[in-house]
Amino acid sequence: MSKIVLQKKESVKDAKCLKCRKREATRNDQLCDSCRFILTLENIVTTKE
Ligand SMILES: [Zn+2]
Repeated sequence: MSKIVLQKKESVKDAKCLKCRKREATRNDQLCDSCRFILTLENIVTTKE
C-alpha cells in the first residue's frame, strides 16, 4: 500500500508543464495554471476571429 502512494507522489513530482517547462503541471493536461489560462485565452481569440 505504501508503494502505491510513493509511485503516485513521484509521477506528480515529475510532471512539468509542457508549455513553459518551468512550473509543475497541476492537472492531467500537463499544463501549469498560468499556461492553461493563456491557452484558454488563445482559444477564445481564435474562436472570435
Ligand atoms: Zn506552464
